Amino acid sequence: MINANLRLGVTGTGTSTTWREELARAVRDPAELVRMLDLDPAMIPSAASASRHFRLLVPRGFVRRMRRGDPADPLLRQVLPDTSEGLPQPAGYVNDPLEEKAASRSPGLLVKYRGRALLVTTGACAVHCRYCFRRHFPYPSENPRRREWDASLAAIRADSTLQEIILSGGDPLMLDDATLDRLSSGLAEIPHLRSLRIHSRLPIVLPERIDNGFMCWLESARVPVTMIVHANHPREISEEVKLACNRMRGSVRYLLNQSVLLAGVNDDEDTLVALSESLFDAGVLPYYLHLPDPVAGTAHFAVSVDGGRALVARMRNRLPGYLVPRLVREEPGLPAKAVLA
Ligand SMILES: *Cc1c(COP(=O)(O)O)cnc(C)c1O
Ligand code: SF4
Repeated sequence: MINANLRLGVTGTGTSTTWREELARAVRDPAELVRMLDLDPAMIPSAASASRHFRLLVPRGFVRRMRRGDPADPLLRQVLPDTSEGLPQPAGYVNDPLEEKAASRSPGLLVKYRGRALLVTTGACAVHCRYCFRRHFPYPSENPRRREWDASLAAIRADSTLQEIILSGGDPLMLDDATLDRLSSGLAEIPHLRSLRIHSRLPIVLPERIDNGFMCWLESARVPVTMIVHANHPREISEEVKLACNRMRGSVRYLLNQSVLLAGVNDDEDTLVALSESLFDAGVLPYYLHLPDPVAGTAHFAVSVDGGRALVARMRNRLPGYLVPRLVREEPGLPAKAVLA
């Protein structure tokens, strides 16, 4: 009943733009972003210069959740190219800290952990997060064309230990619904697969993506879907995001969130508590809180292990257990992500 009402609300206005149109209108010019937020134009040249290496991309709906006139806004900090990205990096900051190239079994198929494999379906995202560990990822070679999925599907079929496939990227919800359907139909033919997991930031940064066509796919998928969205700050959970999450909730097995613990964005107790509470309001439970990977160009986002542990300990004193995420870090060569708290 709730779902039916929401569906009317989303589609019945006749004025809503499609997610493709919203994406086409996304902000790509640092000068425009600075002007939209009434920031000091003196910020433009350095942002434009940093944008050359990994360009600015942010949907307008996400910009509307930022505070005007605040150069330290935590949502802005996640997307505005920053001169710190070009500074000399501490030891250990490298382009491929996760050694993903080594885990690649066929183009785009990463198998690091027992029972589950990560399928890179596209290099595209709806937002460019400055801290992203994929900013240096070799997408031209690891971004499979459709016919190369056949090789990945064959590799999955040949390994009966694989029970779960995780669609990742880039962002798998950048694929259109027909492509998602082809992929999930192929996966559904593999008898040992029990779960399809989607890691996506689109429900947060571009909630228009959760439209009728997508819901049709989700409701008809023959492998049960678990959706893991990615929000880092409570102000990212807008009313539109809550509606999108509510819409998905009845059609997925679990709806979870992963966050990255980022200096100057969410590295304080009140923000993390508010994030968990906002997620709960949206019907989403926190899953992982990742320490940022040591990716070259992102050292200004680093939070120490001890700092992260202390924050999670304080969250635990204020929240029910199910609203406290696990603090994790990815360490190459381990059989799972390292759980730190
Ligand atoms: C993070 C990750 C997973 C998923 O790990 P979970 O602990 O199951 O969430 C799977 N494969 C790869 C390559 C990963 O990086
Ligand atoms: S949406 Fe995800 S993969 Fe894309 S830039 Fe952001 S963190 Fe990276």
